[in-house]
Amino acid sequence: MNRRAFLTSTAAAGLAVPAIARAQERVVSLYSSRHYDADRQLHSAFTDSTGIRVRVIEANADQLLERIRSEGTNSPADVIITVDASRLARAAELGLTQPYASATIDSRVPAALRDPDGQWFAASTRARVLMYDKAKGAPAGLSRYEDLAKEQFRGQIAVRSSGNGYNVALASSFLAANGAEATEAWARGIAANLARPPAGGDRDQIRAMMAGQGTIAISNTYYLGLMSISNQAEERELAPRVGIIFPNQGDRGTHVNVSGAALAKNSPNVDNARVFLEFLTTPAAQRVFALGNMEFPAVAEAEVHPFLASYGDFKKEAPDGAKMLANAPEALRLMQRAGWR
Ligand code: FE
Repeated sequence: MNRRAFLTSTAAAGLAVPAIARAQERVVSLYSSRHYDADRQLHSAFTDSTGIRVRVIEANADQLLERIRSEGTNSPADVIITVDASRLARAAELGLTQPYASATIDSRVPAALRDPDGQWFAASTRARVLMYDKAKGAPAGLSRYEDLAKEQFRGQIAVRSSGNGYNVALASSFLAANGAEATEAWARGIAANLARPPAGGDRDQIRAMMAGQGTIAISNTYYLGLMSISNQAEERELAPRVGIIFPNQGDRGTHVNVSGAALAKNSPNVDNARVFLEFLTTPAAQRVFALGNMEFPAVAEAEVHPFLASYGDFKKEAPDGAKMLANAPEALRLMQRAGWR
C-alpha cells in the first residue's frame, strides 16, 4: 500500500492521528524510580487518552541517572521521574535534562514546587511526619524535629536507617536550618532514643510503634495513607488509630519532599514527552497521585484523599532541591558519625 492509500484508509477507518504524533513514533520512554502500583494506572490512563504508548525503565534514581549519562546522545530516555528534589536537582546538574518549557505546567504547579530554571517540576509531595498511637495520646514535648533528640524520649523512636534517602533529605533540611554542630548532636540524640535497631521501611516503623516498640514513628504521610486503603484488613484497621504530629508548625514548617519529572536532555520524542509531562498535572493524573498513592497533589486545586485531609492542613517547608543536593553528603556523614546506623 502506498503512503497516500494508507493515509486514506486510516482516515476512512476513523484513525486520524494528531500531526505531532505522526512525525514521531507514538511512544514515550519513562526512566522512573517510582515503585508504586498507582503508576501503572497512571500510564494506562495516559495511553487511553492520548494513544501514546508508555515504555517504562524502572531502577533506583542513581542507577537511572548513571544509565542516561552512559547512553549519552543515544539515550532513549524521554522523561525522568524520581522522588526527592535533590535527585531531580542532580539530574539537572549533570546536564541530563532540558527545560520542559510548558506554560501549562507553570500555570498549574506553584512556583515553590518547580525548579527556578525550569528543569523539573513536582507532580506530588509527601511530608515526613511523627506518628503516635492515638490510644496513648501524643507524646508531650514533641512538636519539632529538634525535640526528637530530647533525653525524655530514650527508647521511644522507630525510624529506618540514616542512609535511606528520606532520612538524608530530612537531615539535609535540618542542616540548612540549624548548622552542622546542631545536626550531629540531633542525630546522636535520635540514635540514643531508638526503640529498636533501624530495619525495614516506614510502614515497618509504624507497625512496630503501634505494637508497643516505642511511642514515636517517623514516616512519610503516604505510607500511612496506603495502609488505610490496603487490601489487608489488619492494616486498614490500624491506620485510623495512628495520630500525626506535623513538626515545626511554629517555625520553618514540616519537611516535605517531592516526586517530580523532567524532560531528558536527548529525548527522541520531545513532543510526546511534553504531552506526558503536562498530563501529570491534569486533574485525572493528580487524582491518581492523591487517591491512588495517597500523596499530596502538586496542583493546589486538586483533591487530597479524605483520610489524609482528616489530619488537617499544615505549614510546609518549601523543598529546595539544590540546597538539599548540596547538603546531602554532609548530612549523611553527620548522621553516621553520630551512630545512627
Ligand atoms: Fe517510598
